[in-house]
Amino acid sequence: MTERAADGSIPVLDHGFVRLDGVMADDLSVVNAARVSFARRKLELDDSDAGLVGFLMRERHGSPFEHNAFRFHVRCPIFVAREWFRHRIGSFNEFSMRYAEAKDEFYVPAVEDVRTQVGKPGSYTFEQVSPELAASTRAELEASYLAAFGTYQRLVEQGIAREVARAVLPVGIYTEFYWTVNARALMNFVSLRNAESAQREIRRFAEAVEELFAEQMPITHAAFAGNSRTAP
Ligand SMILES: Cc1cc2nc3c(=O)[nH]c(=O)nc-3n(C[C@H](O)[C@H](O)[C@H](O)COP(=O)(O)OP(=O)(O)OC[C@H]3O[C@@H](n4cnc5c(N)ncnc54)[C@H](O)[C@@H]3O)c2cc1C
Repeated sequence: MTERAADGSIPVLDHGFVRLDGVMADDLSVVNAARVSFARRKLELDDSDAGLVGFLMRERHGSPFEHNAFRFHVRCPIFVAREWFRHRIGSFNEFSMRYAEAKDEFYVPAVEDVRTQVGKPGSYTFEQVSPELAASTRAELEASYLAAFGTYQRLVEQGIAREVARAVLPVGIYTEFYWTVNARALMNFVSLRNAESAQREIRRFAEAVEELFAEQMPITHAAFAGNSRTAP
């Protein structure tokens, strides 16, 4: 299990986190949603149920995995949120830089995450750069963030609307949002984003999402993992 903060959130990157803010989810709901076809309902799981969940996953009977809800509170860089928000099956509410002033929290990759891209589109590999280049990249990012945030603050102080001043802020700035999603769409998200082909930064968040999902629905998660991580 990943280390947790006092409020149960999983820290991700330098200023981010994933926190399960609320949940209505268990493996029993999957089994009962499937068995209602035969007007049957169970009060607790038994040994045969893992087989049924595995069957539903394998045969892509997806709707029994929709009778649940996970409400996550996430803080991540805007470029990660942009990838996340492409997942349309789910609900989002995000921090507004029209209504509230931006905070000076920016993503600076750890030295080992400063990488170079090798190969062709579709089959890139990412390799670590020299310690010198990693350090200078981090310094350049920090300097650029500082300058951008300085301009932002100056514009706001001069009376420029926050919705205009924010135009100067880079996609490395952190944002926050709530994301409510059912297990079916969540598995689709982690199959795509907790994957080798996903960008490393969103992958770290997807790992945290998957860990919290597995705690709530261990049998469903095991069936997902055993089905080549393909969502039903
Ligand atoms: C490695 C990677 C690279 C990517 N690169 C790009 C890129 O370069 N440019 C870019 O624009 N996007 C890119 N994407 C985003 C990608 O195209 C999807 O928009 C994103 O992953 C959301 O996936 P989804 O549609 O399956 O999820 P959701 O939107 O949550 O949808 C879940 C499922 O619901 C169904 N569904 C939802 N909406 C519809 C619909 N309108 N019609 C029919 N079925 C629907 C589909 O079965 C879908 O799989 C990338 C994603 C990944 C993982």
